[in-house]
Parts: sequence; C-alpha cells; structure tokens
Amino acid sequence: MSYICDNCGKNTPPNVPCNKLVVETRPKTYVQVHKDKAGFVRETRTHGTEIVKEAKLCSSCFTLKTGKLSDDHR
Ligand SMILES: [Zn+2]
Repeated sequence: MSYICDNCGKNTPPNVPCNKLVVETRPKTYVQVHKDKAGFVRETRTHGTEIVKEAKLCSSCFTLKTGKLSDDHR
C-alpha cells in the first residue's frame, strides 16, 4: 500500500513500509481506585503520555527528521 508523506507530500511507491513519527504527545494521568486493608478508598495515580498526532513520513524525510535510517534502508 502506498501513502502520501506528511512532510513533503510525495506519494511513495507501493510496498514501502510506512515510517511513523510521533509529533505530538500530551501528559496523561491514569487513576486507579482501590481499597486498602483498612477499607479506605485510595487512588493511585500514574503519569504517562498519550500520542496525539503521528506523522507518516517517506524514508528520506524520516531520516532527515530523526537522523535514523528507516526500515526500508536496512
Ligand atoms: Zn517525505
């Protein structure tokens, strides 16, 4: 399957793996509610991130942005 690069707008040839780059994340708090041994309700908060936006990039834009070689250059 081919796709259009989000950076340069070029249509890539078919059967080239898509390079996804996370361009935007937001902080997310995960709350777990549980009861402790004494019967009190407790909250455990863990902080993580959530992906907001992902860009599909052709191999040259991927290398340009990350400095890494994409999958199809292996
Ligand atoms: Zn591109």
